[in-house]
Amino acid sequence: MCEICEKVKTIDFFPTPKEYLDCLNYIQSLVDNGNFLFESKDCDIDRVQDINGHWIDDVISHVIKCKNCGQCFTCFANTYRGGGRFRKGK
Ligand SMILES: [Zn+2]
Repeated sequence: MCEICEKVKTIDFFPTPKEYLDCLNYIQSLVDNGNFLFESKDCDIDRVQDINGHWIDDVISHVIKCKNCGQCFTCFANTYRGGGRFRKGK
C-alpha cells in the first residue's frame, strides 16, 4: 500500500447493479488517471452489458494494480445471484 492506494474507495457490497456500474466507472477513472493498470479483466468496462442490457456473464471480475507499489484491487460481481464488492487484494 502506498499513498495513492490509500485513497482508493473500496466497497464491501453492491446493493444494486447501479453501485456496481458506478464502481466500474470509478475503476476506469483510476486507470485513465494513470496511477493504475488492469491486471486482469473479464471484459472492457463498457462491455459488461450487451446492447440489450444483459450481463455478459454470471460472474464478472476486474483487477487493477497500482503502478507505484503493485497493490491489487479486485472488483467482483455475481450478476446471477446479485451482489459483489470492490476490495483490496486479488
Ligand atoms: Zn500503491
